[in-house]
Amino acid sequence: MGSIPTRSTKNKIMILVLNADYTPLTIMKLDRAFRLVYKGKAEIISTKGDTISTDKVDYDRPSVIRLLKYVYFPYKKVTLSRFNIYRRDDYKCLYCGSKDSLTLDHIIPRSKGGKNSWTNLATCCMKCNITKGDRFLEETGMVLTQKPFIPSYLFFLHKMNKLNEDWKKYLIKTDNEKTR
Ligand SMILES: [Zn+2]
Repeated sequence: MGSIPTRSTKNKIMILVLNADYTPLTIMKLDRAFRLVYKGKAEIISTKGDTISTDKVDYDRPSVIRLLKYVYFPYKKVTLSRFNIYRRDDYKCLYCGSKDSLTLDHIIPRSKGGKNSWTNLATCCMKCNITKGDRFLEETGMVLTQKPFIPSYLFFLHKMNKLNEDWKKYLIKTDNEKTR
């Protein structure tokens, strides 16, 4: 039998990975994160639920791990994608707040030179998208409830902490450091 659990439902579980100095580094799938622990490159900081059995020893399933050696890691840029724009905008139309039939709106229409960019793309419901059509925002009387921004990687990490109570202290700590 293999020593490390690989293909299983556990693959859907995401783990918070801290740098050696406890700053949040990334989020990765359980099997990848566990491999780091198994190889002695990381330690388990926080656990959740079941155990992972290996040929050596049983581990409590990690929720947060910490790399033992500091790695220099320039924060990844968040990929511009439909999914990430929805996430940034909380899956809500930035014009009317609807959560139904979402699509993306080019604030400056593509036909008028509008780019595919974080600041020119907004989550939008079909209805508002059709209403706005190919016009500039000023021509429509429609108003953005939130100015589209370029999200940082930590922004998404922070969003995820709603789901993971035990990630909070690491993510919040980083936020405090940022505002100092
Ligand atoms: Zn709308």
